[in-house]
Amino acid sequence: MINYDKYEAVIGLEVHAQLLTQSKLFCGDSAAFVNEPNTHISPITMAHPGTLPKLNDKAIEYAIKLGLACNCEIEKVNYFARKNYFYPDLPKGYQVSQHTTPICKGGYVTIKTEDGEKKVQLNRIHIEEDAGKSIHDQDEHYTYVDLNRAGVPLCEIVTEPDLCSGDEAYAYLTELRRLVRWIEVCDGNMEEGSMRCDANVSIRLKGETKLGTKVEVKNLNSIRNVKRAIDHEIKRMIEEVENGGTIIQQTRSFDANNGTTFALRTKEEANDYRYFADPDLTPFHISDEWLKQIQSTIPELYESKVKRYIVELQLTEYDAKVIADERETADYFEKLISALPPSPPGEGPGVRYKAAANWMIGPIKSYLNENNISITKLSLTPSSLAEIIALIDEGKINFSVASSKLFPALIKQPNVTAAALATQLNLLQTSDSGEVASWVEEVLNKMPDKVAEYRKGKKGLIGLFVGEVKKLSKGKADPKLTNDLLLEKLNA
Ligand code: ADP
Ligand code: MG
Repeated sequence: MINYDKYEAVIGLEVHAQLLTQSKLFCGDSAAFVNEPNTHISPITMAHPGTLPKLNDKAIEYAIKLGLACNCEIEKVNYFARKNYFYPDLPKGYQVSQHTTPICKGGYVTIKTEDGEKKVQLNRIHIEEDAGKSIHDQDEHYTYVDLNRAGVPLCEIVTEPDLCSGDEAYAYLTELRRLVRWIEVCDGNMEEGSMRCDANVSIRLKGETKLGTKVEVKNLNSIRNVKRAIDHEIKRMIEEVENGGTIIQQTRSFDANNGTTFALRTKEEANDYRYFADPDLTPFHISDEWLKQIQSTIPELYESKVKRYIVELQLTEYDAKVIADERETADYFEKLISALPPSPPGEGPGVRYKAAANWMIGPIKSYLNENNISITKLSLTPSSLAEIIALIDEGKINFSVASSKLFPALIKQPNVTAAALATQLNLLQTSDSGEVASWVEEVLNKMPDKVAEYRKGKKGLIGLFVGEVKKLSKGKADPKLTNDLLLEKLNA
C-alpha cells in the first residue's frame, strides 16, 4: 500500500500570453489569427538578409500594464537578447527574448484556496516573440511551416515554485486568465493557444525543504487539463519513488484522451542558447511619466470590486462574485445602480442594490445564457432596467409580471420606455378599486366552501384568495388593495 500522504507536491507554472496588439513585436505585419497560412509574413518576419526590427511600443505598454496589475516591480532599463537555437519554424535562427533583466520582477496573483487567500508569487514577466508553427500532420513526407505567428508578441509569466496541487494551479490560471481579459492585454483563450501553460512539477517528503527533481509537462490546452496533468503527474512520481525508482528531469506531454503523460525528451544538461544582447535593437527605457500613464489605464480589478460590493453595497459574497465575474457584467451592474431612483427614507441602500443584483443574477443571466450572447450585446440598457425596477418599487407592476412579460418585451423594443410599454401591453397593476373589487367578488363567488371555512376560523385561507385574485387579474391587481378588499368582504 502506497502512503501518498507522506509526500507533498511543488508546482511552478510558465504561461505564455499572446498580447492583443494589432501588429507583431518588431514589424507591421498583422498579429491577428487567420486560418490561411503564411499571409502575415513580410521580409522581416521571414528574416530576409538586411531586414531590421522595429519595436512595437504597444507590446511594451501591455507587458507593463500586466506587471502593474500583478504588483510587480517594473524594470526601467531594458534590452532584448537573442536566444539562439535551430528549428524550422524559427526563420532567424534565434528568438528575440529578454534574458537576465525581465521587464517585470516579483509580484503575485491572489487566489482563493481551501485555507483562505493565497498570494501566488511570481518570479518574473518578460517579453518575447513567438515562433512560427510546424505542421506535421498534413503530408506523409513533409513538414509544413506557417509563419503567421512568428514574431507575434508574448508575455511569459513565470511563477515561483509556489503552488502545491492541481486545484491551486487551476485557481491560479482562472485568476490569471480573468486578469489578462479584464485589463485587455490578452484574450486568454487556451483552446486557441493565445494563452499557453507549461507545468513544472516535483514531489518531496513532507518537511523536506530542498526542491525535488522537476518534470515539465507541455501541451496543456485548457485549465482543466493543466489540473488533470498535475494530478496525474504527482501520483505517477510518488508511485515511481515508492517502487524504488528515481525521478529524472524530463519534458513530458499530456494526453488529454486518457489523462496520462508520456516522456518527450530527457534533459541531460541545460541547453546552451548562447544568449547575447540583440545588436539590432537598442535598449529601451521606461520613463516615470509613461509608467504613470499606463497605471491610469488599469481599471478597478476583480478582487477590489468584489470587496467593494460586499462592504459598500452590502451584497452577499456569492452575488458580488457572480456579478464581478466578468468586467462587462460588472460595468452593466454599476451603470444600473447609478440609474436607480434614490431609496425612500427609512430603507437602507442595500435593499435597492439587492434588487438590482437579483435582476443581474436572475432574468439577465438566464436571458444571456438561453440566447448565448454576452451582456455587451444586450439591447436593454441599464437605465431601462432601472426604470423597470422603479416601477416595481412604486407598486405599479409586480416582479413576476415584470420579469416574465415586460423584460422580454423591452428587449425586443429597446427604444420604448418601460412605463409606456407596460401601459401599452396592459401590464400595470391597477389600484382602481372598482376593478379589483370585481375580481375579488368573482373569486369569492367561485369558492363558497372556502369562504365558509374561512369564516369558521381558517384564517390562513386568505393567502389562497389573494393568489386566486392575482391569477385572475394576470398579476395586475395591486396586492395590498386586494388584501384589504378581501378582508372587507370576508369579514362583512
Ligand atoms: P528552467 O530553466 O528549467 O526553465 P526555471 O528555473 O526557469 O527552470 O523555472 C521554470 C519554472 O519551474 C518556474 O515556474 C519555477 O517556479 C518552476 N520550478 C523550478 N524548480 C522547480 C521544482 N523543483 N519543482 C517544481 N517547480 C519548479
Ligand atoms: Mg524556463
